[in-house]
Amino acid sequence: MNLKSSDRNLEHCIFCGEKGPLTGEHVFSDWIGGICGAPNLTWTDLTLTYNGETRHTAINEPHEDAKLDVLCYDCNSIWGSKKQSTAKRHLAPLMLGEWPRINEDAKKIVAWWATSFAMVREFTHPETVITPQLAREQFRATSMPPPGWRIWMRPYEGYRHLESRHHIFPSIYGAAVPNVFIQLFVSGKIAFFVFGPSDPWLSNYHSTASYCVSNALIHHRFVEIWPTHKFFLKEAPTPIEDAEYSNIIDIMREAVHSPMDWMRRIPPPAK
Ligand SMILES: [Zn+2]
Repeated sequence: MNLKSSDRNLEHCIFCGEKGPLTGEHVFSDWIGGICGAPNLTWTDLTLTYNGETRHTAINEPHEDAKLDVLCYDCNSIWGSKKQSTAKRHLAPLMLGEWPRINEDAKKIVAWWATSFAMVREFTHPETVITPQLAREQFRATSMPPPGWRIWMRPYEGYRHLESRHHIFPSIYGAAVPNVFIQLFVSGKIAFFVFGPSDPWLSNYHSTASYCVSNALIHHRFVEIWPTHKFFLKEAPTPIEDAEYSNIIDIMREAVHSPMDWMRRIPPPAK
């Protein structure tokens, strides 16, 4: 996997697979500025780690200008726009620091939004994309995250307004190619964590990696929203602050590579 060439031009829509022309999809949806107060939202930060190498991209332009040419007009401006406006109703309160009740419909649209973000975000570095095209086409057809994907949330309180971290596992369980990514991202006052495996046999809800990441996330007060929201808390967990947030990717990397610490569920600290 070459981390040096991120300028590959795409010809086909990453969601439906149709040949372009492709239109610019916002990395962070453009409505977010209107929710959180656009003048403060000037820091869009992107980090990629792979094989010990970290790439850090601070985008010094208003976040609404950060776009990737990855979607056709239909997927971006018709299907995507319609979905975004439904998602906004459920996400805006979370981004403002509220903790609304999550029912089945809310769970599905919030998971749709996080999946769409994660799939587009992977194309910040197209040469490192793990998710198969087929999985994205199924997402386009069903609006559901791919099998094996898990999505978590926790309120966030800190100085980052928009930020995302993307970590690629070189390969776990001896796979020939990278087969899992994790993403951590903040939008306003909510942090998301996405576990995105690509191999069918890793797409098991009970795989060791998935299980240990889950235990570590519970310890860090993240709340699962996909595939199940049955453990969703009525009361918001305490917000994650910057010091803890900064360590989450490393902790989850440990949980996958050296799972012994997390084979057993350790409850969150009392305070
Ligand atoms: Zn398309």
